[in-house]
Amino acid sequence: MDNTITTIQQYRELRRQTDKLAAELEKLHADRMVCRKGCCQCCTNLTVFPVEFFSIVEEMKQAGITKPAFDAAKACGYLDDKGECIIYPYRPIICRTQGLPLAFYDEPQQGYSVTFCPKNFADADPAKLDFGPNNTLNLDELNDELFKIHLQFLQERPQLHFTASTRIELSQLGEYL
Ligand code: SF4
Ligand code: SF4
Repeated sequence: MDNTITTIQQYRELRRQTDKLAAELEKLHADRMVCRKGCCQCCTNLTVFPVEFFSIVEEMKQAGITKPAFDAAKACGYLDDKGECIIYPYRPIICRTQGLPLAFYDEPQQGYSVTFCPKNFADADPAKLDFGPNNTLNLDELNDELFKIHLQFLQERPQLHFTASTRIELSQLGEYL
């Protein structure tokens, strides 16, 4: 039996870990976060790495989804009229971190900064927003892990002729289903 873990499996494990951490942070910051179903101002048309794109395609095929509705007039074409994501179970990793306090290395500041949706933490005293490694998601680490998996995917599937900078528009899902 071949025990090799494919890059798509690695991607899904990273997604599982991100979901777990996101759930913990949402719980931790529950009294200061207003993210909810139908709130979609953070949604926008996205591009993703091929490994993420083809993982989503594979899962949607397995679920029997043939052509998800895409409305080019919306901020993200996968939003329905109620502002809900129609591909929610398959959405990319970046969508799973929206609204959370995200820590990243801020080059001009020469140090770590934290970003979050302005709708969240809105009534909190900025001086009391005591963000640190235990209550934020480290965006740089997440992006580094995702990029490593992306590079491995390129090696695994050289026939696709993608490069390190290849990104695919999520709007193209329907063309591969
Ligand atoms: S894929 Fe879904 S969650 Fe992500 S931006 Fe589009 S509508 Fe929003
Ligand atoms: S991140 Fe902001 S816009 Fe997105 S769901 Fe949360 S509160 Fe709404």
